[in-house]
Amino acid sequence: MLVPAHVFREYDIRGVADKELSDELIGAIGQEFAHALYEDAPGAERLEIAVGRDCRLSSPRMLEALTEGLLRGGVDVIDIGVGPTPLLYFAVHHLNTDVGVMITGSHNPGDENGLKMMKGKASFFADDIRRLRDRVAVPIAAPERARGSRREVDVSKAYVDRVTEGIDLSGSGLSIVVDAGNGSAGPLGLAALKKVGLDPVALYCEMDGTFPNHHPDPTVLSNLVELIARVKSGNASVGIAWDGDGDRLGAIDATGEVVWGDKLMILFARDILAESPGAAILGEVKCSQTLYDDIKKHGGRPILWKTGHSNIKTKMKQEGALLAGEMSGHLFFADKYFGYDDAIYGALRLLQILARTKKTMGELLSDVPRTFITPELRIDCPDDIKFEVVDRVKTRYRSEYEVIDVDGARILFGDGAWGLVRASNTGPVLVLRFEAKSEARRDELRAAVERAVAEERKALTG
Ligand SMILES: [Zn+2]
Repeated sequence: MLVPAHVFREYDIRGVADKELSDELIGAIGQEFAHALYEDAPGAERLEIAVGRDCRLSSPRMLEALTEGLLRGGVDVIDIGVGPTPLLYFAVHHLNTDVGVMITGSHNPGDENGLKMMKGKASFFADDIRRLRDRVAVPIAAPERARGSRREVDVSKAYVDRVTEGIDLSGSGLSIVVDAGNGSAGPLGLAALKKVGLDPVALYCEMDGTFPNHHPDPTVLSNLVELIARVKSGNASVGIAWDGDGDRLGAIDATGEVVWGDKLMILFARDILAESPGAAILGEVKCSQTLYDDIKKHGGRPILWKTGHSNIKTKMKQEGALLAGEMSGHLFFADKYFGYDDAIYGALRLLQILARTKKTMGELLSDVPRTFITPELRIDCPDDIKFEVVDRVKTRYRSEYEVIDVDGARILFGDGAWGLVRASNTGPVLVLRFEAKSEARRDELRAAVERAVAEERKALTG
């Protein structure tokens, strides 16, 4: 079968639904995935898989194609219906199925869609996805199996019960505005907030796969404009945003300022460390130094790790970390929850902190040293040289400075300042970021590193 190789990405499968994700391709993925599962579970009689889908218009079609492939491959399919990605993760734990697949385009445009897959309760990514791609292109002979069965199970009530367990915010006085961007987290998110006793102002919490109001991606400021305005005009304590499939959290302070993932992590880390002293807490290479310093200051064990939710979940298990997070708002709680990224649960944990302390996020973070940090800077760089450019920049700085190289090069300039150069896993792009104690120092380092990148690139391309 002719396979569009680029739809098989590092962490998931994704493409323009009607052009690149045909019934034939999705069916073949289902069948080969099923075969691979049996190969990995020798002796297993029947394997069972939970399948969920987001509210995109192409999701029902993809569900049918995927299910047909899985049934042909001999696995039993449990259809959990429409909902956010964490509902699928929950279903895998709650129903104790062997694996799960979520049909979702996450925060991407409405005409795109994709698959996020699990391997047991872990992520299915990188080499797993490459192997799947190869066997879809050239199918490997598999033993005949009886066709699987299909049933529907609604786990949404159990899910809301679980995420709200032990949380009561009635009488907290919190006034909140929620924006689900018409994505799949709206209805369940609202149900959870109401269950803990809150009465949120709801923006775009009805599912609509055409995303008529704004893009469901809270990492992009322009998607937060209306939420910010409503927080300010309504004097709300906090604004909450969910991405299209509910695994990324956006948060707006009472002042209308965005509180990004690394700052949210500081709030959660302090909360967790108060109960579990010494806990390991994991952040990614793009996070502010203030996060790692704050974890240490509060008696935790900070770990700086690779970007990407699959990388993070895997490392978290290895280290027994109780919390992990990314700038993008993927937040993973393993102290009282399952350790996957669930932004509905993340919102409840945030609100719990605000209710208990009776402070705003800004007030709670006021003792974090002020630094000057750039946003993520993206520079175009061809795929075939991007890793080499990063390597050469690393070598160049290594003689003089400490360089952390778990994911790209994070150069530590010795005065708390750092600069990051990493190759994106998802496109022909280098990602840069800089932080320092003064604006001048930050800009000076940025100019120097950008110059180094340009020179190394030139040396490679002539
Ligand atoms: Zn997402």
